[in-house]
Amino acid sequence: MHRILRPALGLVMAAAALAPAANAQTDMDTRYASWPTYNGDDLELKVDASGTHFTLWSPEAEGAEVLIYNSDRNTPAVDTLRMTRGDSGTWRANVPERLLGKFYTFRVTVGGRTLDETPGIWAKAVGTNGQRAAIIDLDATDPEGWADDRGPELAAITDAVIYEMHHRDFSIHPSSGIVHKGKFLALTEPGTTNGLGRSTGIDHLRELGVTHVHILPSYDYNSVDEANAPANQYNWGYDPFNYNAPEGSYSTDPANPSARITEMKRMVKALHDAGIGVVMDVVYNHTAGGDDSNFSLTAPGYFYRHRPDGSYSDASGCGNETASERQQMRDFIIESVKYWAREYHIDGFRFDLMGIHDIETMNQVAAALREINPNSFVYGEGWTAGDSPLPAEQRALKENVARMDGIAVFSDDIRDAVKGHYSAAAERGFATGRPGNEETVKIGIVASTAHPQVDYSKGNNSRFAYASAPTQIINYVSCHDDLSLTDKLAASMPGSTEAERQRAARLAQTIVFTSQGTPFMFAGEEVFRNKKGIHNTYRSPDEVNAIDWTLKNTNSDQFDYYRELIRLRREHPAFRMTTAEDIARNIRFDRISAPNVVSYSILNNAGGDTFREIKLVFNGARTPFTARIPRGEWTVIARDGQINADGLGTSPGGTIVVPPTSALILARTR
Ligand code: CA
Repeated sequence: MHRILRPALGLVMAAAALAPAANAQTDMDTRYASWPTYNGDDLELKVDASGTHFTLWSPEAEGAEVLIYNSDRNTPAVDTLRMTRGDSGTWRANVPERLLGKFYTFRVTVGGRTLDETPGIWAKAVGTNGQRAAIIDLDATDPEGWADDRGPELAAITDAVIYEMHHRDFSIHPSSGIVHKGKFLALTEPGTTNGLGRSTGIDHLRELGVTHVHILPSYDYNSVDEANAPANQYNWGYDPFNYNAPEGSYSTDPANPSARITEMKRMVKALHDAGIGVVMDVVYNHTAGGDDSNFSLTAPGYFYRHRPDGSYSDASGCGNETASERQQMRDFIIESVKYWAREYHIDGFRFDLMGIHDIETMNQVAAALREINPNSFVYGEGWTAGDSPLPAEQRALKENVARMDGIAVFSDDIRDAVKGHYSAAAERGFATGRPGNEETVKIGIVASTAHPQVDYSKGNNSRFAYASAPTQIINYVSCHDDLSLTDKLAASMPGSTEAERQRAARLAQTIVFTSQGTPFMFAGEEVFRNKKGIHNTYRSPDEVNAIDWTLKNTNSDQFDYYRELIRLRREHPAFRMTTAEDIARNIRFDRISAPNVVSYSILNNAGGDTFREIKLVFNGARTPFTARIPRGEWTVIARDGQINADGLGTSPGGTIVVPPTSALILARTR
């Protein structure tokens, strides 16, 4: 995710994170814990019939003011309101008028020093670059039909197929045929094509069959200058500035505080109308700035963890880490996600570096979201990017996921086993002919749950069944971090042809999409997009990050394979079991001595499936494998790099050769 240098972290950092933390509680930490807290729904701004009311939480301030402006930047304040002390560490100011259309900032004096102005931490509307908060009629930003807008219903997260997308990647290329390139509105445009007869945009998503779009950070982030839209800037957005307002560079008019809000809502509604849910990537674990962040300018020190010497601790690798275990910060995270769920109808949340947060906070987040929307879900990176003062047993780490209710973590196990290690570009994985990863692939197949035939002592990353249910696991072989799958295959398969690499991608994704747990894919891999071999493209230009949609024609067979693979999963609950017990009962691995081969059956009409048995044989070797399939009336679903969820033909079983780098999937109803 990172702004500075963003390693995607697997085993190495997870292990480091489990090392004993340095003496956790500093004097500062103890002091902050004694501060009064305030969680009223009027924090910072409330406009009602009696006027405009400001309430700032800043217990140690010696004074606080509200500055009122007529515009979002470059104009002097038209009024300055002195705030008076309220209860529970707050400061208050009121005016009898409804100041709709005005902008405001807070200015706090603490320790004898008057700090810079800040829009606060609860600005729900902001102007250009988020420098000033805006007073708007939020209800007026709702698109038509918003009250009836609903995301897709899910029995469990494992029914989701998640597509991770950056707004700009998805629509900025000329071949997208989209009018609002790089904007929220890009996803509201039906009927777009790549000029070669193939759909793009939201129609493409429907055709592919994914259930949820996971949008990279879409709150107001710091690094793209919203006042200079034509500058061709790009950033992933892992540098939070205003957590509760959308990013302005994705709107058609960053200076108009309502535009970014209503346009993001229109995006959500268009996706919901297409039957697609929206997951938002949230980055509460650190802020873009330290002393100059909105947290620091509101209540200096409180929202962050520190080292014993008073400096910021840095589990994020971005210069600071927030302190979710402190009540006011915990409340902030919970209220913030609740706000996005209620106001924007966001269906799911992906927590960046979730291991920086404490388990209790994450459990409260998930519970609060379920109350708002029982179809919502939460997943995150179960690791940190550096050590933290928070004791490891309190961290929302992958290894602790069994203690988290309704939360899933990314499986770096399946990721690294299938394609090779994320940071060692040339290293192959199971799908590309490296032996020794078979047991870790099996760990992926059973979603890191306990299974009598899986030997966790042979796991590459985690050595125990850390998940208590498959609903706790997100399976993937690539995401925005590190090499895209296409680039990873190019780096690890020197001398290979494009066709050979596409074959390897098909095998890799077939393992992911048929495994228990929830599948997740990086946008554009269905057309075999690349990122020009660059690992960390967080601020690379469009030439690197944009998806060229003419690839949908060039690689149409690849797209068809992904579409059918997704359809297979969605039509068959056997791939979507929800308990570890069902997986242990219904999955039976075959004893295979050949390297780079995993073969198993899903039995017993698992999950109520029409198929009594599904047989899957993954051959990652560079030589053919001869499988011995029981005699029966089999439907051949996948073979030799081809797939059709309705069947490619039939087979009586017996000896079947599985060509190199391919999956064989057979199914029978009796
Ligand atoms: Ca911004």
